[in-house]
Amino acid sequence: MRWSQLFIPTLRENPAEAEVISHQLLLRAGYIRPLAAGLYSYLPLAQRSLRKIAEIIREEMDAIGAQEFYLPELHPAEIWQESSRWEAMGDNMFRLKDRWGREMCLGMTEEEVMTSIARAEVRSYKQLPQIWYQIQTKFRDEPRPKSGLLRVREFTMKDSYSFDLDEAGLDVSYQKHHRAYCRIFDRCGLQYLVVEAHSGAMGGSQSHEFMIPSDAGEDWIAVCPNGDYAANVEKAQSAAVPPAAADPQINAAPEPFATPSRKTIAEVAEFVGLPESSQIKSLVMVAGSKPVLVLLRGDHQLSEAKLASALGSEVRPAHSEEIRQWFGASAGSLGPVGVSNMEILADEALRGRKNMICGANKDDFHLRYVTPGRDFEARYLDLRAAAAGDGCVRCGSALELKKCIEIGHIFKLGYKYSESMGARVLTADGQEKTVIMGSYGIGLERILTSAVEQGHDKDGMCLPAALAPFDLVITPVNISDVSQRQAAENLYADCRAAGLDVLLDDRDERPGVKFKDADLIGIPWRVNIGRKLAQGMVEIVERRSRQSRDVPLPGAAGQIQRLRAEAVK
Ligand SMILES: [Zn+2]
Repeated sequence: MRWSQLFIPTLRENPAEAEVISHQLLLRAGYIRPLAAGLYSYLPLAQRSLRKIAEIIREEMDAIGAQEFYLPELHPAEIWQESSRWEAMGDNMFRLKDRWGREMCLGMTEEEVMTSIARAEVRSYKQLPQIWYQIQTKFRDEPRPKSGLLRVREFTMKDSYSFDLDEAGLDVSYQKHHRAYCRIFDRCGLQYLVVEAHSGAMGGSQSHEFMIPSDAGEDWIAVCPNGDYAANVEKAQSAAVPPAAADPQINAAPEPFATPSRKTIAEVAEFVGLPESSQIKSLVMVAGSKPVLVLLRGDHQLSEAKLASALGSEVRPAHSEEIRQWFGASAGSLGPVGVSNMEILADEALRGRKNMICGANKDDFHLRYVTPGRDFEARYLDLRAAAAGDGCVRCGSALELKKCIEIGHIFKLGYKYSESMGARVLTADGQEKTVIMGSYGIGLERILTSAVEQGHDKDGMCLPAALAPFDLVITPVNISDVSQRQAAENLYADCRAAGLDVLLDDRDERPGVKFKDADLIGIPWRVNIGRKLAQGMVEIVERRSRQSRDVPLPGAAGQIQRLRAEAVK
């Protein structure tokens, strides 16, 4: 391709609306343009990268025996109603009606469609296992689209689904995906972590996420510096650090005291002169339509995902009117003593504590000397989100929290869809058996975004060779010099013959402009054709390291081929 004929609309300035690096650079380098909130047009450079990503994914999925489908993204409501996700997806789902008034939606994932095919066509255990995948557009009516391609309303996913006869079969399909994902992300040149993940409110037994540590991310993981434990904070287990002050060891009954206008844990801590860890934090949550009182140590945070898992249902914080109705007090003055109209759940870190402080269920009053097990009964569970400094459950070292971008997720679904939608096969002895499923996703734009987040400098992107829209750019320093122009054309032809994705910068621009643009769009190698041509030499500059070497013009294409093979192996 010749730069003079390509559409690469680079920008000089950082676009004001872009906060994260990948968003800034994808705009500046002419990869993407916004259409509306959370909707982007992919210009030719982005499209070339995304095709390369798709091809890597396709090769590795095919290598584990997965078969590619292409499914509609416009779905009838009925299949989502069968799985009960029509309701559960709420406002996140794009819904519409066709001309006859039939309800439809835009696909968020394809469990329902794949399961509807399996139940109609897969009838015998002899047809199992199956792994089916597609690379397709997905829709999500994101309330706050942001960060460029990271939180959007339309995106591309590889989603696959496995169908097996039993759990042992599902284990095999799951491990195949685990290995395929590692190969995909290795080949994409990404530095990633595999972490244990929350497996959802609706069951599911095992789940891992593939995470890119990055400040642009929106997921947090807890990771042990020894490398023996990493998990999403939603799910991470950890040993809490001891309370900042020891409990008073006196025998005293709960005693109300006035705390005028002190509503938060921090305000009460300051007022009483004791650390936050001496308080019980009381949160009113609603699971389905049932309220539940959740207790945590004052300095701890609730993991809504752990609570949802424990209750087997989605949860939400109660509204202030509901709290007033159930407790006769407002959120800043709540506690467990005397509560009998709802279940009380307490985090494990409250077990064995004595003489703590909590709300009195009377506005502007708290209780002191409250002891769990004596003054109230609760069911104890692990409910808190892991925090930095907590002990690793494997080795006791202090955990670190890292912000991450999730690029892939593998998930043992179990029987949720096959049971609700009736996907069954006949076994060898003629019995009907429900199939067991897994689901596995990869976000293609997130791979590109993560590659930019991990590979950039002040001048632009440094994309991994496997993902870059071109392998190399040939830059004749002075296009009006006939011998430079001819040498560039010859090398361009050599590179094409060698199967390289080559871009020839044939624009009549100053060398500084050409070098700047090449750096910005992130092509791994630049071949400068300038004064040294008189000695038959050209200069190869590696984008990421800025290292340069002079090579003879006739061997330059072969040299790039070797460098590329080394980089993408
Ligand atoms: Zn550890």
